Amino acid sequence: MTIGNIPKDIRRKPSRRTNVLVGYLPTTQLLHVSSAASRRRMLANLFHHCFSRILNPLKDAGNTGVEMTGGDGITRRTLPLFACFVGDYPEQVLVAGCKTGQCPKCDIDRTKLGDLNTTSSYRDLQKVLDALSTFDDDPAGYSATCSKAGIKPIVHPFWESLPHSDVYLSLTPDVLHQLYQGVTKHLVAWVTAAFDKKDIDARCRCLPPNFNIRSFAKGITSLSRLTGKEHADMCRILLGLIIDMDLPDGTSPIPLIRSTRALLDFLYLAQYPVHTSETLRLLRQSLRDFHANKHVFVELGIRENFNLPKLHSLIHYAESIELFGTTDNYNTEYTERLHIDLAKDAYRATNHRNEYAQMTVWLERKEKILRHQTYLEWHPGNTPGVTIRPLSMGYNGTLTLTKWPSKKAVDLDEIVTEYGAGFFREALRRYLVLSKHSGPPLTSNQLEYAILYTNLPFTSVPVYHKLKFTTPADSGRTKHLTLDAIYVRPERQTKKDIVIPA
Ligand SMILES: [Zn+2]
Repeated sequence: MTIGNIPKDIRRKPSRRTNVLVGYLPTTQLLHVSSAASRRRMLANLFHHCFSRILNPLKDAGNTGVEMTGGDGITRRTLPLFACFVGDYPEQVLVAGCKTGQCPKCDIDRTKLGDLNTTSSYRDLQKVLDALSTFDDDPAGYSATCSKAGIKPIVHPFWESLPHSDVYLSLTPDVLHQLYQGVTKHLVAWVTAAFDKKDIDARCRCLPPNFNIRSFAKGITSLSRLTGKEHADMCRILLGLIIDMDLPDGTSPIPLIRSTRALLDFLYLAQYPVHTSETLRLLRQSLRDFHANKHVFVELGIRENFNLPKLHSLIHYAESIELFGTTDNYNTEYTERLHIDLAKDAYRATNHRNEYAQMTVWLERKEKILRHQTYLEWHPGNTPGVTIRPLSMGYNGTLTLTKWPSKKAVDLDEIVTEYGAGFFREALRRYLVLSKHSGPPLTSNQLEYAILYTNLPFTSVPVYHKLKFTTPADSGRTKHLTLDAIYVRPERQTKKDIVIPA
């Protein structure tokens, strides 16, 4: 759980701990229940019941307020409300209590999901609440009443009595699953189906190596099970790959390019970290452009319809951004990352038996340590003891060399070529001139002249690959501690011809 008034650049840093774990949900599959239908119902009821318990404090707090002390030290009466639920599609379906395949937010017909112009409105919360309230009066007809209102017969969904909340509004866009793993995944498949796969892969291979763009050496048509990151990398080159490419049977490629471009525009506009009315207008326009040109995929026989819940979900993006801020405020990538920190790592810290209590203790301790550390950093009187200076920052260490050099004699040429010390000779000559010189300081001309006419009386030098900085001799210690060390080695080859870089 996180709160809405934290700036997003702080929220997105897991180290700032702006998301806190409020509970673990049971992972039981209820396998002892033989009927699949009743098992699903029970699991949904269990989920909602757990959530009700977790969010129970929000009921009174949202109605009458609680006193909270802000970062500025002022205590105010605060009314915390349940505003957003961040989750992927199956989680949204579970929360909204609708059927898989439907839009969890609005009442659009499943067979019209691919149509931009079908009018739909947000699910009517009051109608749903009225249907849910018939449970005690008419248990026999409960299922039918709920079904008419567009909700599964859940007994007391968790959002039922949360003040000033509309669960259907609170479901947020999900860039990772809806756009990258959803719509762009479809788009790449449609586009590669429209053209010759060999042509597309050949164009992929032609891309010159570039620092920012991943090169798909084997092309993109044969890849499967891709991550969101890989889809993002593909989207960067997709339009460039297909531009000016001919469709097999002489169909005009213009609508295809337009629809691809429109979806890519939508993808990038939807991720803007800041929006204006103009960028939101462009976001809506790019979706209209896609729908105006999508017929090309039907004409090419790639799709029969566009009734995909993920594609439909784009309709709700602009309004969600207006309501809750830009999409990076409710990105599921952060919560997936937190799943590792707060569930997987916590589990690993246990002995895997009766782990639940151990996990909560582990988390509690971690949070306490962090809170204490934050306090120490903030407290003005404590600063000297808290600043931990990295050891490498201490310059008063004693320079220590090993007794014997790593290499007894390295040719001066090799120092330049292999060790990369390009001006070693000049620097050594300068050192010799300056250390021999006595009398008034040399002018820079005299110094250059002296350096030029100094001959080095040897052609090789011993080389040390390691320097150590140890605690100073006057520190009173009997044993010197190593504060820092520097290792320098030229590139070398192992016996198996593996090159280890410098
Ligand atoms: Zn919808």
